Amino acid sequence: MSENLKTFNKPCIICVAITGSVGQKNNNPSIPISIQEQIESTQESYEVGASIAHCHVRNYDGSPSSDIEKFFLLSEGIKKFCPGMVIQFSTGGRSGKGEERGKMLSIKPDMASLSVGSTNFPDRVYENSPKLINWLIKEFQKNNVVPEIEIFDLSHIFQLKNIVEQNSFENFYIQIVMGVKNSMPANKKVFDFYLNLIKDFFPKTQWCAAGIGKNQFKINEWSASSGGHIRTGLEDNIRLEKDILAPSNASLVKKAVEICKNNNRSVSSCNETRKILCLNQEY
Ligand code: ZN
Repeated sequence: MSENLKTFNKPCIICVAITGSVGQKNNNPSIPISIQEQIESTQESYEVGASIAHCHVRNYDGSPSSDIEKFFLLSEGIKKFCPGMVIQFSTGGRSGKGEERGKMLSIKPDMASLSVGSTNFPDRVYENSPKLINWLIKEFQKNNVVPEIEIFDLSHIFQLKNIVEQNSFENFYIQIVMGVKNSMPANKKVFDFYLNLIKDFFPKTQWCAAGIGKNQFKINEWSASSGGHIRTGLEDNIRLEKDILAPSNASLVKKAVEICKNNNRSVSSCNETRKILCLNQEY
């Protein structure tokens, strides 16, 4: 890593979470559902500054899917229309049960999300049993996929420490998630506490944070001003303002770009993102 990337004003990586597994067209018609819509929306986001695409796939009726074929088509489209962009699949739990959640890792995306503990979600338990987590870790290793570890709760930071101490991962990225109903709220004192622990336990690891719903821009601001990276997109938030629906993923990426500028952070290019996160430079 070059010296200038280590400074506080290092480039800020913007990840766009384009679709998720919950929002539907009747919540916001701009949420991309079909593969074609997803590729177009990712390209628009890429053109205004996003360098990571966080991807879920859906069935034709909008319900979440674990279909490997869909993940493959989406990643091929992103590679074609957004050269260099980092592709990150979700192994989140709405699309399937148990090991179904990790089957798409065989496509070998650059990265994929990995939850290391359970938490409550608005309408259910987000269940991640130790057995499933251990199986997923092996799939990540087998396929050489860099994990983005999702921190929904304080205990997940300690869980990650245990995993790292067992030498499971040489390279990983950390994503703090705040503002999910029934899970950890977007609280600045907790955010700062999380960061202190993360810097203590994993001093060289890059981190990002995501705020759900109305917390999105606030968390973007906290991340950019604390030397972290930004996640935005319609998966997490469907509104530009309280009464205005976001017209596209790109409109949310543009807000993130503004937040970077206000915090004296340049927006990371795809090549810079690959360097900062020690990802494959060949794509
Ligand atoms: Zn997701």
